[in-house]
Amino acid sequence: MKINDFKLSRRHALKVAGASLVTSTVAGCSKVPETVSSPLSIDGVLPWSNWSGNQVSYPAERARPRNIEGLVKLLQETEGKIRAVGAGHSFSSLVPTDETLLSMARFRGISHINQATKEVTIGAGTRLAALGDDLWENQLGMINMPDINTQALAGAIATSTHGTGQKFGSLSSYVTGLTLVAANGETYNCSALENKDIFDAARCNIGSLGIITDITMQMRDAYYLKERSEMLPIDEAFAKMEELRLAKSHFEAYGLPHANHILLIEFDEVTKQESDAMQGKAVSGDAYETFRTLADVIDTLPFLRGAVMSIAPRTVGVEERYGPWNKIFGNVRDLRFNEMEYTVPAADGLACFREVLNTIKEKNIDVIFPIEFRYVGEDDIWLSQFYQRAGAAISVHNFHDKPYMPYFAEMEAIFDRYQGRPHWGKLHTKTEPEFAALYPQWQAFKKLRQRLDPNRRFINKHLEPIFPV
Ligand SMILES: Cc1cc2nc3c(=O)[nH]c(=O)nc-3n(C[C@H](O)[C@H](O)[C@H](O)COP(=O)(O)OP(=O)(O)OC[C@H]3O[C@@H](n4cnc5c(N)ncnc54)[C@H](O)[C@@H]3O)c2cc1C
Repeated sequence: MKINDFKLSRRHALKVAGASLVTSTVAGCSKVPETVSSPLSIDGVLPWSNWSGNQVSYPAERARPRNIEGLVKLLQETEGKIRAVGAGHSFSSLVPTDETLLSMARFRGISHINQATKEVTIGAGTRLAALGDDLWENQLGMINMPDINTQALAGAIATSTHGTGQKFGSLSSYVTGLTLVAANGETYNCSALENKDIFDAARCNIGSLGIITDITMQMRDAYYLKERSEMLPIDEAFAKMEELRLAKSHFEAYGLPHANHILLIEFDEVTKQESDAMQGKAVSGDAYETFRTLADVIDTLPFLRGAVMSIAPRTVGVEERYGPWNKIFGNVRDLRFNEMEYTVPAADGLACFREVLNTIKEKNIDVIFPIEFRYVGEDDIWLSQFYQRAGAAISVHNFHDKPYMPYFAEMEAIFDRYQGRPHWGKLHTKTEPEFAALYPQWQAFKKLRQRLDPNRRFINKHLEPIFPV
């Protein structure tokens, strides 16, 4: 159900807030059963909503198992559909269920570090942000990171969540082992050497194979980063981007609709000495603050859109930040939005990006939210957007309280022409026939899915047309 179909009244919102308080108090009590019905409710059931608020559902049951035995018992002793939730940061309807919503939030933290191989075993419900300090203390770092760090690790892995840099894969590509509990409670340890078929499928599983309890990831030595952002005229920016793709370890771009500028962000590894020397001296160009201000101005005076979008970017100066990897990666996103993202072959990325920006201008589409452009390296994960194909991931957004489907439909038609693969956690309209054509291992994934979940317990309404059998 979309939020447009259901608006929470202030009274309902207060009830929900009260209910969350009660639920969290109860969750701390040792006598709480594994499955808890909502104590306060609207018509008997408490609503669940994702980060942007475009997905709402009414789970009849909420489960938060304490350990693997509790999870196995839950799967073996209950019937009906189950959907796992991480941090609820997916825009697509992956999580919503009116049956059992299962949180793995109690499976958190680092359980093992292999200092020799730099592999770290982590509870499935651990938020990415919670990993930073522990890894840093052990002189380790994540190889790459997405835009934000609030996702749960299993949630991020489930959709092949990624950062930027063609020399880097998605987070899923750094998984070296995982434990998955199938619908009948059977537990599988998976790696390149053990249950390899499940390993190749489960590293991007969209919650459709079973419940993941822990994940082992390849890390590297801790490192320091310099982030540099610069607003460039559009032609200069496009000329620089192909060069940057090959030369820079991390680099991304934000194209401004109806404007003649692109924001380029480059990340470089630096030494501790360089980073320390720059503390307190970083240059601030305030691109994010400028965008917030111009969004407010255009919201109030929409007829100024063209003028504001062409003048404001020129006021943004160069911005530089230095610090440990976990302090530089992970932005705060306090402007709420909805998003569609497609990955097209890396070689076609710039042409597709140009077409997106030109189409917005030519069709005078009412949007000002920047278009994000990133490169990601290829992997061997069956349903990953980057399966056997290095990609350019292009993301279009609109504010959470603005209509987004007509805009996204225009953009999806462009992405389709470039054989784009949608991000599983973001909005798209694809169903099985299209996915079967986009993913060479589609049938193998389907067969494995049927084996691990023969009664379709992990299939919700969103996944029905994707896995009709
Ligand atoms: C502000 C914002 C910024 C974002 N930035 C990026 C970005 O930079 N790069 C990018 O690639 N994506 C990005 N995303 C998308 C986001 O990373 C993905 O949608 C991710 O899957 C969300 O993680 P989550 O923990 O919230 O998972 P949820 O949305 O809660 O769940 C996602 C999927 O994981 C499954 N799942 C969760 N836990 C388990 C488990 N233990 N076992 C089995 N299945 C499980 C769920 O069933 C569901 O299918 C962003 C989203 C937002 C809102």
